[in-house]
Amino acid sequence: MKIKGSTNIVGLIGHPVEHSFSPPMHNAAFNELEMDYAYVAFDVNPQDLQLAIEGAKSLNIKGFNVTIPHKIEVMQFLDEIDEVASLIGAVNTIDFKNLKGYNTDGIGAVRAIEEVSSIKNKNVVVAGAGGASRAISFYLAKYGAESLTILNRNVDKAQSLAADVSNSGLIDDVDADSISQIASHLTDADILVDTTPIGMHPNINDEPIAFAEDMHEDLTVFDAVYNPNETVLLRQAIKAGAKPVYGIKMLLYQGAESFRIWTGRDAPVETMEKALKDTLNLE
Ligand code: NAP
Repeated sequence: MKIKGSTNIVGLIGHPVEHSFSPPMHNAAFNELEMDYAYVAFDVNPQDLQLAIEGAKSLNIKGFNVTIPHKIEVMQFLDEIDEVASLIGAVNTIDFKNLKGYNTDGIGAVRAIEEVSSIKNKNVVVAGAGGASRAISFYLAKYGAESLTILNRNVDKAQSLAADVSNSGLIDDVDADSISQIASHLTDADILVDTTPIGMHPNINDEPIAFAEDMHEDLTVFDAVYNPNETVLLRQAIKAGAKPVYGIKMLLYQGAESFRIWTGRDAPVETMEKALKDTLNLE
């Protein structure tokens, strides 16, 4: 990639940002399509967030990804927020054409799941009620899930998220329960989405949220954890004959959707996936 006078800049704002996988993933995509773009990471202190957005606007930056801790705070500095991002209450992508915020995390997860199972009319169990669960749950509702059961260690948080999703009007059947009851909820489930950090490196031998005995062959199991690639939960899913969906696919498709928003072009997902795997040292 050659940086020229005409090169368009997109990037990431967060704090910290130095371990992000997004620069190699997006720059590989721009290289592949021979596009005159470069993606850079900017470490922005929380107190400088407004200045960073105004500065980016005046520097003619084309787009940002937004990561921790700015995903909620940045919304007040934007002109427009996409409808689902507004329900979620967080954005991870900014398009400077119209200073509009989007949340592509949830889109990334549903696209990953839809590679192996459609979501429409399915009964979905979501484990966890944090940021990732919130982004994914609203998109599962938008993509036509029949029912959503949100399970969490702190049940109040699961109930609060379930109420928000229900109030969105995107889905009628939303429930909440303790994650300790997961086995009983999996009997009638079509899709299990795990948004807890259980099994994440270095705790790769954590006890999974569910075991093969709790699963069935028609179940699709998505784990948001992407390191390791095959988590302790996905190993149980494979043992049960269920269909595994890997966390790296969510990273990939959230990036692909941001790429499309900024450039108007379909992202070269195979190239991006290879760059991600190389960066993560996955096979
Ligand atoms: P978060 O906001 O901190 O939420 C974490 C959730 O996991 C909470 O509901 C928490 O329950 C639950 N939890 C944590 N430890 C637990 C344990 N030992 N047992 C049972 N439940 C536990 O975190 P997040 O931002 O949603 O991220 C969650 C995971 O998703 C992380 O591993 C992250 O790497 C992954 N993620 C992946 C992608 C991707 O692109 N693949 C994107 C975003 C996030 P309590 O409320 O009871 O504490």
